[in-house]
Amino acid sequence: EEKITVIGGGLAGSEAALTLADRGFSVRLVEMRPDVPTAVHHTGRLAELVCSNSLKSTKPDSAAGMLKAELDRLGSRVFAAARRHPVAAGGALAVDRDAFAADVTAQVEAHPRIALDRAEAVDVAAEAARADAVVLATGPLTSDALSESIEALTGADHLAFYDAAAPVVMADSLDYGRLFRQSRYEEGAGDYLNAPFDRDEYEAFVDALLGARRVIDKAFGSKDLFQACQPIEEIARAGRDAPRFGTLKPVGLTDPRTGRRPWAALQLRAEDAAGQSYNLVGFQTNLAFPEQERVFRMVPGLEHAEFARFGVMHRNTFIDAPRLLDSHGRLMTEAARRLPAPVYVAGQLSGTEGYAEAIRSGLHVALAAAADLRGTSLPALPRHTAYGALMAYATDPATADYQPMHVNFGIMEPLDPPVRSKGARYHAYAERAAAALEAYARALEGAGLLAPGAGAAEG
Ligand code: FAD
Repeated sequence: EEKITVIGGGLAGSEAALTLADRGFSVRLVEMRPDVPTAVHHTGRLAELVCSNSLKSTKPDSAAGMLKAELDRLGSRVFAAARRHPVAAGGALAVDRDAFAADVTAQVEAHPRIALDRAEAVDVAAEAARADAVVLATGPLTSDALSESIEALTGADHLAFYDAAAPVVMADSLDYGRLFRQSRYEEGAGDYLNAPFDRDEYEAFVDALLGARRVIDKAFGSKDLFQACQPIEEIARAGRDAPRFGTLKPVGLTDPRTGRRPWAALQLRAEDAAGQSYNLVGFQTNLAFPEQERVFRMVPGLEHAEFARFGVMHRNTFIDAPRLLDSHGRLMTEAARRLPAPVYVAGQLSGTEGYAEAIRSGLHVALAAAADLRGTSLPALPRHTAYGALMAYATDPATADYQPMHVNFGIMEPLDPPVRSKGARYHAYAERAAAALEAYARALEGAGLLAPGAGAAEG
C-alpha cells in the first residue's frame, strides 16, 4: 500500500491524514509540537485552534454556511469532531477547543493506518524520497528550517512570511449617497470609489483609530514587516495628519456634493472583476476584528459596511498559490517536479484563511492525492461551491499579488441573471452551490473516492 507523509498536524494536516488513512493509505503524520513550539499554539494537541473558538456562521445562506454544507456532505472527519463539541454561539458554530482538539488527536492516535511522528520535519526533498506522496500542511507558523526547504522549491519570490492585507467590504453595503467615483486628477468617472471626510469626521476617525484595540499590542519592527507597508494606526500614531498626507490624501479629488476638495479621502478599489467587493486602499491594519468594524464604519459612506475580509498583519507563511499550484493542490515548480514523489500543499500554507477553509483544503488535497496515486481521475471542483470559488480564485494565474482568503460572496461568480435583493441573492448563491455540491459528491462517489451517502447523517 502506498505511503503518504503528511507534515503538520493542524486542521488541514489532521483532516488530510484521516481522509487518506480511511481510504486505505498508510500515513505518517509529522507534528513538531509539543517539543518544538510555535508562537501561537499552546498545547501538544492536534488541530489546536490558535485564536477564536468559532468556525463562523452556520446560516445556510452565508458563504461560511455553504462551506459547512460541503464539509458535512463530503464526510470531513475533523469537521464532524467540531460538530460533536459545540458551545452556544448564536448563529455560529463555536467549539469547546480542548474537547475538539482532544477528539481529533484521539482519532488520529487510534487509527490503525496512521503513525504519528512527533518531530520537526526540516527537508521536503528528504521526505519525498521516502514516501509516495507528501502533503505539506504546516500552516502560518511553518518552522524556519522547513520554510527554507520550501523556499528552495518555490523560489524566494513565491514564499511570503508576513501578511499585510487591507480589509475588503461588500459593494452592496456601501452608501453611494456619500461615496463618489473618481480617479485622482481625472474628470468624470474613474476606477476608484472615494469616501470624503470633512475635518470633524477626520479628527473623530483618527481618535478612534488611536484608541482602538490591536491584536498585537506593540508596533511591528520594520525588520518584521520587510517591505510591507505600515499599518494605518501606526501611521496615525506617527502624527495626526500623517494619514491625510499619505493614504488619505485628498489631492486631485473633487467631491461632487460640495464642489470642493475634501479634507481627507479614503479610496476604495474593486477587489473582483464583477465589482462585488472593494478593498480599502492602504488600510492594512493590526486592529482586532470587532474594532475594525467599529472604527472603519466611521469612514463616511461605510456606516453599514459588511466586511468580506478583515485586514491582517501577522506572521503568516504562505506560497504564491496562483503561480505554484495546480487544481489538485500539487506544487508544480521545476524543482518540485524533479522530486521522486509529488508534493501537495494544504491549509493556510497554500493560501486559504480560516479554520473551516483549512479543514476543507486538507480534505480536497487528500482526495486529489488519493485519485492521483490510484490513477483515477479527480472530478473537477465546481466553481459554484464556496470552496470551489476560493480555489478558482487561488489558482487563477490572473490573480495578482495573492493574499490568503476566506470564503466570501465577493469571489463567487455573479448570478446570471443578476438578483437585486441581497437576501434573495445570497439564497440563490446557496441554492446554486447546493446543486453543484450534490453533483460533485456523486462524481466523487462514482470515482470511488467517497463512500455513498457519507456525511449524510451529519447534514
Ligand atoms: P495549523 O493549524 O497552524 O497547523 C500547522 C501545524 O504544523 C501546527 O500544528 C504546527 O505545529 C505544525 N508544524 C509547523 N512546522 C512544522 C514542521 N517543520 N514539522 C512538523 N510540524 C510542523 N482563522 C480563523 O478562522 N479564526 C481565527 O480566529 C484565526 N486566528 C488566527 C490567529 C493567528 C495568529 C494566525 C496566524 C492565524 C489565525 N487564523 C484564524 C487563520 C487560520 O485559520 C489558522 O491559522 C489555521 O489554524 C490554519 O490551519 P492549518 O492547518 O493550515 O495550520
